[in-house]
Amino acid sequence: MSYGIYPRGVTTTERALREEFVRVGQLMHSRNYVAATDGNISARLDDDRFLVTPSGLSKGFMTPDQMVVIDWDAKPVGMGAYGPHRYGAARDLRPSSEIYLHLEAYRQRPDIRAVVHAHPPTAVALSIAGISMARCLLPEVIVTLGLIPTTEYAMPASPEGATVIRDLIKNHDAIILQRHGSVTVGSSPFDAYLKLEKVEHTAEITLRLLQIGQEQPFPPGAVGQLVARRQDQGLMLPGQFEEIQSACNVCGLSTHCPLPERQPRPISSGSSLRI
Ligand SMILES: [Zn+2]
Repeated sequence: MSYGIYPRGVTTTERALREEFVRVGQLMHSRNYVAATDGNISARLDDDRFLVTPSGLSKGFMTPDQMVVIDWDAKPVGMGAYGPHRYGAARDLRPSSEIYLHLEAYRQRPDIRAVVHAHPPTAVALSIAGISMARCLLPEVIVTLGLIPTTEYAMPASPEGATVIRDLIKNHDAIILQRHGSVTVGSSPFDAYLKLEKVEHTAEITLRLLQIGQEQPFPPGAVGQLVARRQDQGLMLPGQFEEIQSACNVCGLSTHCPLPERQPRPISSGSSLRI
């Protein structure tokens, strides 16, 4: 007996995730966050298995039965104790070549359920220019993501690709892979996708700021309010408080600190916007 395209044994949760992968892949493709066969999506199925997008397919044209189930060693899980999880269109497909990056994120973050990796063009361009996105620019980004740091360069799909995210992913939900792309993590594939949208939107605003040529700091006390909101929502990860305080150049995140410099500051290749 089968359930539509799914054989017996595929849970409702797995079916829903497969369909969510398709929708998120279409969004990534339509929003130009990936080109050709770039990018990948993964999600936890249980303690030992992950659902991942296959290698070599456009994310805009996937079908639910093309997703692959793997274990912690990135090996496809086939017939056996877990049931028939390689079937239909996935039978001859391999997991994404960048899956080690995803598995590293799950190792470091037991709290996350999904990972999205993409190549958002403006964010990647900024990283190639050496321009950091770990900046105090947008209030909603400070509340929802904190800062967006950039990793060291690593060759895509190499073991180093997993190594360079190891420390940063522990206390960030969105990071930039230098000259390569982005990694966003969350409670679901769609949640991780929304963080990708936020990353590229932030990159576009950063680029326009560079074109305009000057920026104003937050008013006194404003960053403290944003940090408090992030804490109230239970979003603050270890080390982020100090990191935001330093990046925003505020004293103790209090309204009693000296007024920050309000003169327009040119931002250039030599400014603190550098990575
Ligand atoms: Zn990539």
